[in-house]
Amino acid sequence: MTSSTHLNRDIVVRFAPSPNGLLHLGHAYAAMVAHDYARERGGLFLLRIEDIDSGRSRPHFVESILADLQWLGLEWDGDVIFQSDRLDGYAGAVERLKAMDLLYRCFCSRASMRRAQEDDSQAEGPDGPIYAGTCRHLHPARSIERARTESYSWRLDVGKAIAMTGPLEWMDKRHGKQVNRPEKLGDVVLVPKDTPVAYHLAVTLDDARDGITHVVRGDDLFASTDIHRLLQALLDLPTPIYFHHPLLLDASGTKLSKSRDSASLSVLRTAGRSGYQMTEELKQGIFPVGISLS
Ligand code: GLU
Repeated sequence: MTSSTHLNRDIVVRFAPSPNGLLHLGHAYAAMVAHDYARERGGLFLLRIEDIDSGRSRPHFVESILADLQWLGLEWDGDVIFQSDRLDGYAGAVERLKAMDLLYRCFCSRASMRRAQEDDSQAEGPDGPIYAGTCRHLHPARSIERARTESYSWRLDVGKAIAMTGPLEWMDKRHGKQVNRPEKLGDVVLVPKDTPVAYHLAVTLDDARDGITHVVRGDDLFASTDIHRLLQALLDLPTPIYFHHPLLLDASGTKLSKSRDSASLSVLRTAGRSGYQMTEELKQGIFPVGISLS
């Protein structure tokens, strides 16, 4: 945590990791880019732990994230923010979208969607398969009846939402002005079957609540921004400026990931490597052998 007496509150940036694994070099790069974006402009740098998925989030990963950032020399302002403290706020937004008749129950199972993918009845979007819309046309009475015995998620009716907001745009400092096309992602889930709120809704509400002026994050989330922009328009939230940075790739050209066991920062930290030096190298574009920028 750092003293914030001379900070420029017109620039507020955040780093928002999910504590479902150990951070790796790609996260160090992302945190460094967001931190420097704020600091070079005298702005605030906030740390938000995105721990809404209680099935996958673990307290020891939170501890590790804090230790990694301190080791890297990336200081954040104020208290650490936890999404798990904000569940009531998310529920309020869900109720509002329901009252606007923009959400519908989806009873499709993962297996049935996988089958649709296999038999090609589900198109592929920039962020994975696009939901075919099976449950969008369920009669409301039938939906209520099925809800008595079956588990379900709530999806956003993107077509209906676009008809409500009209055309939208957003600005990316690296990629330029974007015409909003959330239909490319289809009817995304906003309330999953097993967690109180999905990433898209939580991140949009939190960026507004935390007064984030510049969302600095990786290109892997570029496509998601169209959904976030749509939600901002529906819920009367401000639209930040975006900066989607390149990603660190391994020797096979694949993004570093927690699930692919990319070398974790905590291993390097406990082995006595200098985090400060690592940050300096990342800043200068010096990467370990086999790692490059997208
Ligand atoms: N929590 C997300 C993640 O760890 C990042 C959210 C964001 O930067 O918008 O991938």
